[in-house]
Amino acid sequence: MNHKVTFIPGDGVGPELSEAARRCIDAVCAKTGTAVEWEVFDAGIDVVEKYGTALPEHVLASIRKNRVALKGPITTPIGTGMRSVNVELRKALELYACLRPCRSYKGVRSRYSDVDLVIVRENTEDLYAGVEFENETPESRKVIDLVNSFSNPKKQIRRDSAISIKPISKFGSERIVRFAFEYALKNKRKKVTCIHKANIMKATDGLFLAVARQVAEKYAGRVAFEDRIVDNICMQLVQRPEEYDVLVLPNLYGDIISDLCAGLVGGLGLAPGANIGDSVAVFEATHGSAPKYKGLNKVNPTAMILSGMLMLRHLGEHGAAGMLEDAVKRVISDGISVTYDMKSDRNDPTAVGTREMADAIIKALR
Ligand code: NAD
Repeated sequence: MNHKVTFIPGDGVGPELSEAARRCIDAVCAKTGTAVEWEVFDAGIDVVEKYGTALPEHVLASIRKNRVALKGPITTPIGTGMRSVNVELRKALELYACLRPCRSYKGVRSRYSDVDLVIVRENTEDLYAGVEFENETPESRKVIDLVNSFSNPKKQIRRDSAISIKPISKFGSERIVRFAFEYALKNKRKKVTCIHKANIMKATDGLFLAVARQVAEKYAGRVAFEDRIVDNICMQLVQRPEEYDVLVLPNLYGDIISDLCAGLVGGLGLAPGANIGDSVAVFEATHGSAPKYKGLNKVNPTAMILSGMLMLRHLGEHGAAGMLEDAVKRVISDGISVTYDMKSDRNDPTAVGTREMADAIIKALR
């Protein structure tokens, strides 16, 4: 079948990685008798001058039309006031579920060999909602005065504070927890673990946990359920990652635990991801734009290529997805044509570049 996909190369190392992924997808499609037609659009700080925004409407329109996009990482400059294009995109398209599978591949340099976890991160709420007030502004003072006017005297906020609001809704919590259970059922997963800090954030995380427990009841007997406090799960994951299956988390904990889990399976260069809504899905690696490596043909394309593999699965191209994943596995387990981060010595002169690793994966397709 032919598919039309929006392609956003990204910035930093984004263009070289997304190009590597695109070549692998084109190659596997050619072998399996399918085809992807790419609609290429730029987004990020480099397009602001031309379009007056980092996320032009025509990019969103293309994704809405095609319903599927493959996206390279995009830089969010610190201290400029510019909002994250990645966060804006997820909000604009209601991509409420961030799915990040983390599994051990044979031959990867890691302390663990049997990790097979799936992170389901809420993507639209929490401290990521962008409801923020800088300190010593009329807005922050108004918010502080209002909150102090009905808060316990022992819980008064200092007037020179900056404020970030953490909204967690019943609707958003229900939607993401249901997504996690449905994913577990469809993919024959046994357990969903809800991660929270409800012992301290009784209102927000308390609601997330209460809703998770209610949703879990509907799946009782089919998918097991448990919950863990976020600090505790950090230790548990490092000690016994094999005990966990599907993790469902509010946005910020999901962001942090995603990187931790990427570390369990060999690093950020190996962690793919997808942002999924009811009608649209955008596939991208867990990692960012690693600006210091820009243009060096150095970093690992695996996370982007595996994000492309998830995209093929989403498009129903299971044969092509399986063939691509097998080729990635072969190249990794051979350990020869892999990038510096996959060698036991990071200065190993036999490490290949981004392009060459993609070439090896294309060669290993069968
Ligand atoms: P990062 O993920 O870009 O890089 C951190 C480090 O991880 C790198 O220095 C590198 O050592 C390693 N790394 C990352 N990708 C790798 C790869 N493919 N192969 C090998 N090693 C890799 O995180 P950061 O430095 O915190 O963020 C850089 C920029 O990316 C920031 O502007 C941030 O906002 C943005 N970002 C974008 C996204 C996205 O587009 N979805 C996600 C996270 C961060």
